[in-house]
Amino acid sequence: MSWEENVRRVEPYVPGEQPKRKDIIKLNTNECPYPPAPGVTAALERMDPASFRLYPDPDAKMLVHALAESYGLRDEQVFVGVGSDDVLAMIFLTFFQSEKPILFPDITYSFYDVWANLYRIPYEQIPVDEEFRIRFEDYRKENGGIVIANPNAPTGIAVGKKQMKDFIAEHRDVIVVVDEAYVDFGGESCVDLINEFDNLIVVQTFSKSRSMAGMRIGYAMADEKLIRYLLDVKFAMNSYTMNRPTLELGVESVRDEAYFKETTAKIVATRERMKTELEGIGFTCTDSKANFLFAAHEKIPAAVMFERLKEKGIYVRYWNKPRIQNRMRITIGTDEQMDVLVKAMKEIIGEEGSFDAKVSVEWR
Ligand SMILES: *Cc1c(COP(=O)(O)O)cnc(C)c1O
Repeated sequence: MSWEENVRRVEPYVPGEQPKRKDIIKLNTNECPYPPAPGVTAALERMDPASFRLYPDPDAKMLVHALAESYGLRDEQVFVGVGSDDVLAMIFLTFFQSEKPILFPDITYSFYDVWANLYRIPYEQIPVDEEFRIRFEDYRKENGGIVIANPNAPTGIAVGKKQMKDFIAEHRDVIVVVDEAYVDFGGESCVDLINEFDNLIVVQTFSKSRSMAGMRIGYAMADEKLIRYLLDVKFAMNSYTMNRPTLELGVESVRDEAYFKETTAKIVATRERMKTELEGIGFTCTDSKANFLFAAHEKIPAAVMFERLKEKGIYVRYWNKPRIQNRMRITIGTDEQMDVLVKAMKEIIGEEGSFDAKVSVEWR
């Protein structure tokens, strides 16, 4: 008998690389290329480190209230955490205790199965169709809960609110989690459905559309009763998840609706322009409603393109996984960054296309 038999072993999630070099064009973790709202910078300059000796508000009231106000909700319907990863992990721990498997798509955010494994939650991955669309009819089976990313990752494909509503209505007896990390780039949010469905949890984040991945803020919106259960688990683990600067800076971000609209609209415009350009040089892309494109090239294998771009200082995301190994997920950066990317891709297509087969075949 050794202590090692008692270890809670788990295969961890592997986040996208965070390079130390500053000259990298970083399009691999769906961060926003624009700075946070100006009020965030101003508040940071005003901040007095003397306050750091005091614990933060365990209820994170100021941030909860700012979010509730901005969505037209009551404070009791909002829960905040250290990025939506923290919020989602807490949701898995709180609500998924059934012997029946929880359900989520086979192609989706690759943290869901990690949390399920960590907490020993049985799960089943429901295949998306050939075009990466979620097959909602395949979820009509006994289950212990459902998790849907909408828009989905890494495909970017969004499902309309009407379809989500019908889906949630079909699964009233289990918790349905809708992860809306990318909803601000053209998706339709389910948040106003939380007043109608007390089994729905909508999760959003400051990391993508609010340019604050480094601050770690995520939140869940749901019926009061669900939020109370989540808070019980949070207070059973760590009372002070949200630090003082984060609370203050988060509030500033929420208050600046105009800046938020402006930056997300810029990303959407760049995405649509990029999609057309990529299609012009031989890529096919999904109809992404997120701040990334999910692209496959007709000639160059994604693994080759990924490595060659990396050599040129451009990082995108690539998974050597069934069904998606010929695709890259490319975060939408500034227009200037995108122009550099397209230029680099054209070079690679020219070079790989000419001395062709040998290099690419072994990657296929
Ligand atoms: C990025 C992402 C998250 C996590 O974001 P946080 O930085 O932890 O808020 C959650 N879900 C999906 C689908 C994501 O892409």
